Amino acid sequence: MSERLVTFPHMGEYWIAFETLVLELGATPLVPPRMTKHTLEVGARHSPEFVCVPFKYNLGNFIEALDAGASVIGQAGGGCRFGYYAEVQEAILRDLGYEFEMVNLTSSWSVGEFIADFKRIAPGVSTLRIARAFAIAYRKAKALEAVDDRVRKNVGFESERGAHDRVVGRFHRELRAAGAFRDVARLEERTLAELAALPLAKPERPLRVGVVGELYILMEPFANHSIERRLAEHGVEVHRFVTLTKLIEHGIRHRPHVRALLGEADPWVKYHLGADGTESVAMTWKLMQEGFDGMAHLKPFGCMPEVSAMSVLQRISREHTFPVLFVSYDAQTAETGIRTRIEAFADMLVMRARGRNSA
Ligand code: SF4
Repeated sequence: MSERLVTFPHMGEYWIAFETLVLELGATPLVPPRMTKHTLEVGARHSPEFVCVPFKYNLGNFIEALDAGASVIGQAGGGCRFGYYAEVQEAILRDLGYEFEMVNLTSSWSVGEFIADFKRIAPGVSTLRIARAFAIAYRKAKALEAVDDRVRKNVGFESERGAHDRVVGRFHRELRAAGAFRDVARLEERTLAELAALPLAKPERPLRVGVVGELYILMEPFANHSIERRLAEHGVEVHRFVTLTKLIEHGIRHRPHVRALLGEADPWVKYHLGADGTESVAMTWKLMQEGFDGMAHLKPFGCMPEVSAMSVLQRISREHTFPVLFVSYDAQTAETGIRTRIEAFADMLVMRARGRNSA
């Protein structure tokens, strides 16, 4: 009998945490090949034309992983079209002739069902082992986010080009190998210290831009054409708030989170917009009042929660003369167009800041 190889979709560098989760469950992971144009091409070719682009990337990941020998797919879901991804993708892949097992980890409505899903990934695994596997994978995701946050805010000011990437490359290799909680904690601490020691040419009051929008596009640099890095290269301190571990925490404590967000988005939003739409409005409103220089709002073409948020953001931008860069992604989005728009946006922020300082 051939080995059960478990795969999952890519989302930034979170594959390190997903791989750990599968390994710690006692199963064998198959990390999908790195995202390339081929991933999107093959995913888009077999997807419904108007489905949101994260669906196409995920499907491309699954096809590439199945071609590499995967036999079990772990997929998540959410409260919008994301909730149908697993079922539709499974039907498409079966029509294409693939044989595999699909485990939809968010179709479960109780802890018992959730544990049963993990047992489908790794038959025979104990509940205690599932809890440990989840905890160490979660801890690794936290470490990735802490390092990523530091880099986003400072890489645009590094004195030696490539210095941040060198530290982060080593961090990813060591994080992948780390087996114990204390190893992950020590590695995170050491990496943050190394990053803090890098020489920076950073002004006292740098330009600050917040990035909000749809979760997948925010967290997958290949899909957003590395927009955070491009902004940083123009001398911008970049802030992002949507992370995988926050989404998991919000998923566990759904109601209080939505209530709090609606409070923060007041007076602009009365009802939850779905997915991250309310958070996009709440964060834009909050950061504008904190004196940020601008926002970037990223969304897949046709993403309803973010389309709803966009009309509110346009009003905030207009009524408060607050710069917001709106970027919509589909399978045809070209990198050159994104670069040009970022350049123009950054130039405008610099001119505004000069005007403010000389007033
Ligand atoms: S948040 Fe938007 S892009 Fe993401 S799955 Fe939902 S509808 Fe699609």
